[in-house]
Amino acid sequence: MDYFSGYISALVEQLSHLPGIGPKTAQRLAFYIISQPAEKAERLASSILDARRNVRYCKNCCTLTDEELCPVCSNPKRDKKTIMVVETPRDQAAYEKTGKYGGVYHVLHGAISPMLGIGPDDIRLKELMARLSGDVDEVIIATNSSLEGETTAMYISRLIKPTGIRVTRIASGVPVGGDLENIDEVTLLRALEGRRQL
Ligand code: ZN
Repeated sequence: MDYFSGYISALVEQLSHLPGIGPKTAQRLAFYIISQPAEKAERLASSILDARRNVRYCKNCCTLTDEELCPVCSNPKRDKKTIMVVETPRDQAAYEKTGKYGGVYHVLHGAISPMLGIGPDDIRLKELMARLSGDVDEVIIATNSSLEGETTAMYISRLIKPTGIRVTRIASGVPVGGDLENIDEVTLLRALEGRRQL
């Protein structure tokens, strides 16, 4: 079945395992990579390896970082008593971009989804609970407003409530005028400011 070369087939196969990449796109990418100078392909390959080898989870908040502690956790100016719980490092990055949140984060790397068979043990929840034995005033749950995000928020709030720590949930944002970037930031800040106690 190797129309061209076993090497190309292997590359197409690997690329097609990436999220959002179907067989056709994988083939297009493979031919593109091969058409490039060898150094370019080497740079691509080595940046994949470098990222995979050097990026790890922050010991504290579980976000992706190349140090033991991420820049937010190691920043003495951040309020360690306020923890915002997000689903992904991308969600964290969105809030960081607003520049208005002074607390720290906890990245779950997913959300509870009974439909997909993702339970509480499949996300970084134990790590969050371990952090709560320290000095924490508030946990802001900023999971998505999807079914999974809401399920996760409810689950976490039930876990935390007995500890007496304040648990809040961000409001679902309403977009206001401006360009996309601003809409996102304003929406995020409104959602944060409009958080309610659970
Ligand atoms: Zn961290």
